[in-house]
Amino acid sequence: MKIPLLDLKAQYAALRSEIRAAIDRVCEDQHFILGPEVDALEREIAAFCGSRFAVGVSSGTDALLAALMAAGVGPGDEVITSTYSFFATAGVIARLGARPVFVDIDAETFNLNGEQARAAISPQTRAIIPVHLFGRCAEMDDYLPLARRRGIAVIEDAAQAIGARDQRGESAGSLGDFGCFSFFPSKNLGAFGDGGMIVTGSSELAQKLRILRVHGGKPKYHHAVIGGNFRLDALQAAILRVKLRYLAQWSEARRQHARYYRAEFARLKLADHIALAPDTPGHIYNQFVIRCPARDHLQAYLRDQGIETEVYYPVPLHLQECFAGLGYGPGAFPVAERAAREALALPIYPELSAEQQTYVAERVADFYRQPLALSA
Ligand SMILES: *Cc1c(COP(=O)(O)O)cnc(C)c1O
Repeated sequence: MKIPLLDLKAQYAALRSEIRAAIDRVCEDQHFILGPEVDALEREIAAFCGSRFAVGVSSGTDALLAALMAAGVGPGDEVITSTYSFFATAGVIARLGARPVFVDIDAETFNLNGEQARAAISPQTRAIIPVHLFGRCAEMDDYLPLARRRGIAVIEDAAQAIGARDQRGESAGSLGDFGCFSFFPSKNLGAFGDGGMIVTGSSELAQKLRILRVHGGKPKYHHAVIGGNFRLDALQAAILRVKLRYLAQWSEARRQHARYYRAEFARLKLADHIALAPDTPGHIYNQFVIRCPARDHLQAYLRDQGIETEVYYPVPLHLQECFAGLGYGPGAFPVAERAAREALALPIYPELSAEQQTYVAERVADFYRQPLALSA
C-alpha cells in the first residue's frame, strides 16, 4: 500500500468545481493583488479565529516579519522563541537585526517551555514568539501577564495551528498581540501557492500592518516607515475562501484519525517503543508526531513499505550553522535535541482511511518486532 504524508489530490478532487468557479471569478474580475477577495477572506478569517482584525500577507514568514516590524523590533532587541520550530520563526528575528533568544521545549508537547521563556525575559526583550507546533496551542500562562505588564509583544506563530484552541477554548492567534498564519499548501488551510495572514485585536496594530505590507506607503508614494511587499493575491484568497468553509470538518477528521492511531497503537501494544504526546481537545493535528527509538531506521523501513513520513525537525534552531555566532552549543537545550533525534511525523490528513492507518500502525509494530530494530 502507498500512503503519502499528505494527499492534496484527494482534497482537490472533492472541491474541484467550487475552486474552478472561484478562480474563474478572479479571472473575469482581473483584480489580482489585494482587493475584494482578500478583504472578504480577512473578514472570514477574523471571524473564524475570534479576532477583531485580520491582514492578509504574502506568506507565514512575512506574517511573522511584519508582526515583528509592527512591534518595533530592531537591532539591540531580544526576541524569545522556541529552538524547536521551522526556520522562519527565528530567521525573521535575525533579519531585523534583533537577537533570537532560544528556549527549550516541553518534553510532552514539543511546545515552548513557558517557565524557561519567562526566565529568559531581560530588559532587552521586545517580543516573545510561542509556536503552536504541529497544531497544538502552546501554554502561555507563565509569561503572558508579565509580557503585558512590560509591554513585550507576544506574537503567536500559529502557522501550523489555524482553528486550534487552547485549554480555555480560545482560538490560536487570538491569545497574544498578533497571530500569524501560513497558507503554505501543507498547512491545514493551504493555498495554491504562498500566502499568510495576521490577526490582531488592536485596530492600531492592524493599521500598521496594512501600511507595512505595501512598503510602508501611506498615502501611496509617501513613506513614513519602511515596509515591504507583503501582499496577498486575489487568486489565493478566492481559493482559500472555498477551503475555509471545510476547515472545521477537516480538523475534526484529523482529530478522529489521531484517536484512531492511538487506539491502533494500544491494540498493537506499542507503548513500550513509541511515546505519544497527550491528546488535547483543541489540537488540530497539522502533524501526528510520535517519539521513537531508532527513528531513522524506522523511517527507512516505513519508506520501503510505501509509507511516507517526515522528520520535523532534524536540527534545532540553536544548532543551525547560521546561528553559531549566538554562542549556543550541543547540550544547550537537551529536550529539543532529543526530539530532533526521536520525532517522526506519520501520515495524517482528512481523507486518510482507517485501512491506511491500520497499515501504518501494523508496519510500525512489525519494525519493533524485528530483533535487530533497536540495536541497528
Ligand atoms: C510553515 C511555517 C512557517 C512559515 O510559513 P510560510 O508560509 O511557509 O512562509 C513559520 N513557522 C512555522 C512553525 C511553520 O510551520
